[in-house]
Amino acid sequence: MVRAEGVRKRFGRLEVLKGIDLTVERGQVCCLLGPSGSGKSTFLRCINHLEKVDGGRLTVDGDLVGYRQHGTKLHELREREVAQRRRDIGMVFQRFNLFPHMTALENIIEAPVKVGAVPKGQARDLAQQLLAQVGLADRGHHYPAQLSGGQQQRVAIARALAMKPKLMLFDEPTSALDPELVGDVLDVMRQLAADGMTMVVVTHEIGFAREVGDTAVFMDEGVVVEAGEPGQVLVEPTQERTRAFLSKVL
Ligand code: ATP
Ligand code: MG
Repeated sequence: MVRAEGVRKRFGRLEVLKGIDLTVERGQVCCLLGPSGSGKSTFLRCINHLEKVDGGRLTVDGDLVGYRQHGTKLHELREREVAQRRRDIGMVFQRFNLFPHMTALENIIEAPVKVGAVPKGQARDLAQQLLAQVGLADRGHHYPAQLSGGQQQRVAIARALAMKPKLMLFDEPTSALDPELVGDVLDVMRQLAADGMTMVVVTHEIGFAREVGDTAVFMDEGVVVEAGEPGQVLVEPTQERTRAFLSKVL
């Protein structure tokens, strides 16, 4: 579903991704770990067309990110085409960025109605179903300020799911939460994984990565240092840099 081969990205003189190789198969969960500044968010943003790749090859479901292929020629995607591709990718950020002036339900139906042209009644039914899925069936009419951080994050997940994405990206979805609220959000993600969603999850929740991840990838300074089964990478890493990092987060 996601294939990165030598993916590079720079901001001015700073090279942030220095040739990332990584594959996420359909239905798999890839957990991405690494120190601050190692390029994890940038890589997710590249997958989701929020940043442009400078080198290498990045595909999502076989489509080259940012380009359309015509025979042997590549054409840069137009804005509309980018928007089209992005509909298939859901993203959840560290800070629950819900629209504050809309209820949970309104937040969830916004994109399907406005972008997906789904009739409002149908979008509401789906939203109600998604709210139940994230354990918030009775919170549809609450505004974000009336919800806990964990509840807001679960609404954010429901909102991303409302577009029926084929890939979900999570960028440290629980690291801004009070510890007692983390579990409910991870439970929703665990269920999503069990239902077969393809997911790339930036997280320092080692327990989650070990239990739910099909692969764990440790990044440092814009390169993949080590990748493989979570039980190996996170428990018996072969690289000193991975070991040093894990000893700090555990
Ligand atoms: P963290 O764990 O703190 O979230 P990260 O691994 O997600 O870190 P990135 O956010 O991808 O790291 O950032 C990697 C590097 O790229 C950092 O040095 C950051 O300052 C730089 N960077 C990210 N976005 C930009 C930008 N838009 N312009 C310039 N530099 C940027
Ligand atoms: Mg980040």
